[in-house]
This record gives sequence, C-alpha cells and structure tokens, in this order.
Amino acid sequence: MIHLKTAEELEKMREAGRIVALAHEAVRNNLHPGMTTKELDALCESVIVNAGAMPSFKGLYGFPAATCISVNSLLVHGIPDDTILQEGDIVSIDIGACYQGYHGDSAWTYAVGTISEADQKLLKVSEAALFEGLKYAKAGNRLTDISHAIGEYVFSYGYSIPRDYTGHGVGRSVHEDPTVPNFGPAGYGVILKPGMTIAVEPMVLAGRPQTKVLKDGWGVVTKDGANTAHYEHTIAITNNGYEILTTLNKEEHPENG
Ligand code: MG
Ligand code: MG
Repeated sequence: MIHLKTAEELEKMREAGRIVALAHEAVRNNLHPGMTTKELDALCESVIVNAGAMPSFKGLYGFPAATCISVNSLLVHGIPDDTILQEGDIVSIDIGACYQGYHGDSAWTYAVGTISEADQKLLKVSEAALFEGLKYAKAGNRLTDISHAIGEYVFSYGYSIPRDYTGHGVGRSVHEDPTVPNFGPAGYGVILKPGMTIAVEPMVLAGRPQTKVLKDGWGVVTKDGANTAHYEHTIAITNNGYEILTTLNKEEHPENG
C-alpha cells in the first residue's frame, strides 16, 4: 500500500532529507586517500546525531553500521571497516536519516583523489541516469516511466544494471511500497500522485550484470570484478513535478519529462 504524505509529514521528510544531505556534504569535505571506511561512517553518524536524527540503516534488518560504504566492485551494502581508501578508488556511500519518525535516503559515488578516465565516465553517466529518470517523476505518469528512462540511458553506454536491487517508497519506513525498478518497459506500475515519496537509485555496473553477496552476508559485489556506481535521491511527487528532499539546495522541478 502506498501512503501519500500530508504537508506535515513532508515537512519532517524535508528535514530528514536535509540531514542526509548534510552528511554527504561532510563526506565531500573530508574524503581523502588514507582514511578508512569506518572513519567515514563515524563522520556521517556524528553529523546525523548532532542534527537531531538517527541513522536509518543502523540495526535495519540487523545491519551493523550507520551507513553502507561500498568501494570499487562493491555495489551496495558494504559494511564500513578498516579498509583504507586509496588514491584512484571510487566509493559509494549510502546514507539514511530518521527525523521524528520519517526517513530520507540518498547514495552518492565519490572519487578518492584522481580516478581513471573509465571511472570518471562511469560516475558521470550513472549520476546523469538518476536525473534522466527524474524527468519522468511527475503526477499522472506511470512509475516505470522513470525505470525505463534510467535503463535506456545506462544501456546506451554499454553499462549494465543489477536485476535484484531497486529503488523504493520511503517515509515512515526506509523501505515502503512501491518498488522502483531501474530498467524495463515504460507505462507500468502505479500512477504517480502528489504526496508520493520515493527513493530513485540507479545502480550501474561497468561490466556484466551478475552480482554475488560477500561472506559477511551484506556486501554485494560484481562477479566479474568490474567497478560500480550508485546515485540516489529521495523525492516527493508534487503538483508540478517533483521535489528532491535529500538536498541542501531545495528546488522543484516542474514540467519535466
Ligand atoms: Mg540508500
Ligand atoms: Mg534506497
């Protein structure tokens, strides 16, 4: 069941989203070669807690840390640990914050120092894929209009998309209905309505689409060892388009798509 948020609920989700964006800003300002993923996690957790929220992922399904940090061929759900970030790595940080019972969820992939041209292209295309999808985030459109736009864009560059990981509704829980696929035919799924809040999150693989779960039961890596990227925003469908909730730079995006 999809719960349409009231104006009051959206206010709380804006604040949750703002706090997630603050944690990403802290990552951007502090990320450097030589730091461990655990240090990055602690940084994010302190930003979230100091802003009066709680990290959404800590304890979610038993996850042991505040954020998911996934380096290079790790796609999602990496457990922060003593891994030292090296010059040339790409690191995806998935951050959730819960403020007064409402969640925001946003992932971003960052370059550690100078990265290869191939990885620069992977990041650029994957970030652009998120915004290609959001062009269709508009009341009256079907949910998979977003999915289709993401998939077509990513596939046009010869990259692939994992089958088993998707975006989702978000609000009183981190994961709510509906499931938001990252590829597939347009014109299916629910009709988008003002007050729907969803996390749109293309996950992009530079190689083949197959993935496997690490022995720790969490981390998801590419089977072929190719690098990966992950870009996610929590958005609200509005009367004129959509609003990104997980940003410090609030603006609506009317008349897209
Ligand atoms: Mg996320
Ligand atoms: Mg998500």
